[in-house]
Amino acid sequence: MNCHCCSGNCRKSGAYRNKNRVVQRYACDRCGKSFSESQPLDGLRVDFKQACQVVNLLCEGMGIRAVARITNLHRDTVLSILENAGTKMESFLNAKVQDVKAEQVQIDEIYSFVGCKPQTLLDRTDEERGEFFTYLSVDRESKLIINWRTSKRNKENTLIFMRDLQRRVPQRFQLTSDAFAGYCRGDAAVKQVFGNEIDYATETKVFGRTNQMVSRYFNPLVVIGIKRKTRIGNPDLSMATTCHAERTNLSVRTFTRRFTRCTIGYSKKLENLRHAVAMFIAHFNYCRKHSAHGKTPAQAAGLTDHAWTIEEMLAETN
Ligand SMILES: [Zn+2]
Repeated sequence: MNCHCCSGNCRKSGAYRNKNRVVQRYACDRCGKSFSESQPLDGLRVDFKQACQVVNLLCEGMGIRAVARITNLHRDTVLSILENAGTKMESFLNAKVQDVKAEQVQIDEIYSFVGCKPQTLLDRTDEERGEFFTYLSVDRESKLIINWRTSKRNKENTLIFMRDLQRRVPQRFQLTSDAFAGYCRGDAAVKQVFGNEIDYATETKVFGRTNQMVSRYFNPLVVIGIKRKTRIGNPDLSMATTCHAERTNLSVRTFTRRFTRCTIGYSKKLENLRHAVAMFIAHFNYCRKHSAHGKTPAQAAGLTDHAWTIEEMLAETN
């Protein structure tokens, strides 16, 4: 333990008991300052077990108000826990999801909105409201969500997302995306970041109507064809699909309330959307066993040897 102030050596100096645990106090040998050991949820006084339950409920697709009703906590307390846990899980993922040995990576984006839908947004230049995209990259084998970025969909953000992916997967791999121009056109993000050191293909789905009338009320467009195209290097086109990334998107939509379509659970604040995404991804990668292989994605990717609990994860990030 080093001093927060001067990084000097510290010795134990008393302890006190709060609602959750015995908190050790330390004193610095050099400057004499004393301080407490850090707590899993920093300034929050709420019971730690209950806070973990809140995180679990949020990761199973429950809305903020529903969690508040079930746990008898105030809505603002639930949001504070979201903020605190989201911040911690983001740094947890940044530290742990490194050097990923992925061979097939798929990327996709999920649409969502903050505050209101873009068509009702009065100020089109508003950076904090309107439509937002969550970019996700998924390892086909382990189902690990390698990295993500929640932002407006533009050139700049696509580049940041790509650079982050490159940092986390050091060796050459095959990448598949949809034909979004920001990824593949000319010298767009993928070319700019990876140059020729990647096997890159795109998959475009062609949508159309079926002939038969299925329902009077619900006639969605269906996929009537796919087009796969080599963009860089020598990708295996039989593997060039974004199915697995889209399946992951479905999990995000199902288990994060604010992504569930046609409900009033949408995000009101951009910060909270980002926290919710980080929290979901940490839970998805490290806590939840994937039915494809019966392990957590992080285990399958060789990043850890066991399934984590929320308690463990929050304690780890101190
Ligand atoms: Zn000191």
